[in-house]
Amino acid sequence: MGRLDGKIVVATAAAQGIGRAAVKAFVEEGATVYATDVNLEKLNELKEIKGIIIRKLDVTNNDDVSALAKEVDTVHILFNCAGWVFQGTLLDTSESDWDLSFDINIKSMYRMCKAFLPKMLANGGGNIINMSSVASSMKGVPNRCVYSTTKAAVIGLTKAIAADYIKQGIRCNCICPGTVDTPSLRDRIKAVGDEKKGLADFIARQPTGELGAPENIASLIVFIASDESKLITGSDIKIDGGWAL
Ligand code: NAD
Repeated sequence: MGRLDGKIVVATAAAQGIGRAAVKAFVEEGATVYATDVNLEKLNELKEIKGIIIRKLDVTNNDDVSALAKEVDTVHILFNCAGWVFQGTLLDTSESDWDLSFDINIKSMYRMCKAFLPKMLANGGGNIINMSSVASSMKGVPNRCVYSTTKAAVIGLTKAIAADYIKQGIRCNCICPGTVDTPSLRDRIKAVGDEKKGLADFIARQPTGELGAPENIASLIVFIASDESKLITGSDIKIDGGWAL
């Protein structure tokens, strides 16, 4: 018996990193998963996995979101994972960097929740899991100005949804990882120039002395998606190797 037997999941940013590990973990626990991403080529690598249905979906595109909502009538778990790191201080951030960060990292969640929350309510309940970060209202991190601002907004959105719909069977939580070894982290390390030093610096941020693996974060996400965590709602859950201590 899986912890998510019979559950239907919609997940964004499933092609790589934490999203990819999470959709694999969801199906291992018995769920059927609509795994979506803007990168169809990478998403295609998941299409042979039993229980995974792949769909191209750009979280900034209302038509993509509406098309998926038309197709999927019942949804028990919505995992809003899509996010983008703009690196820089406030003065480095142009207005278009600011707007794009807000669009991908937070307005996307508004869009997805607007489309799928009514279906959950019609079904008597549901479970929304949003991806935030320790780089948010939890911790000031250099060169992550707009990113951290959007991730703090994710915490606010999460608590607001949890409060508004708690009596209608909806839970809403967000996950706040520290540094996780994913393809985009590797790109950020490359961008440092000296890759060895870049990696060492990222590892040094986490007092436990290692980067998170996407699978570590996926285990927490499955727990939050399952009934084992039924008392948890409105929470911003840190999983960061002690970075925010
Ligand atoms: P990643 O950054 O390596 O990959 C992101 C995925 O999102 C890609 O598959 C990409 O195609 C997809 N994507 C980008 N724009 C999209 C859009 N407009 N519509 C749909 N999909 C889109 O993956 P990751 O590092 O695991 O990050 C996933 C989430 O976890 C993000 O929200 C990120 O902010 C958050 N996070 C990551 C870390 C970390 O250290 N990696 C730490 C804290 C939080």
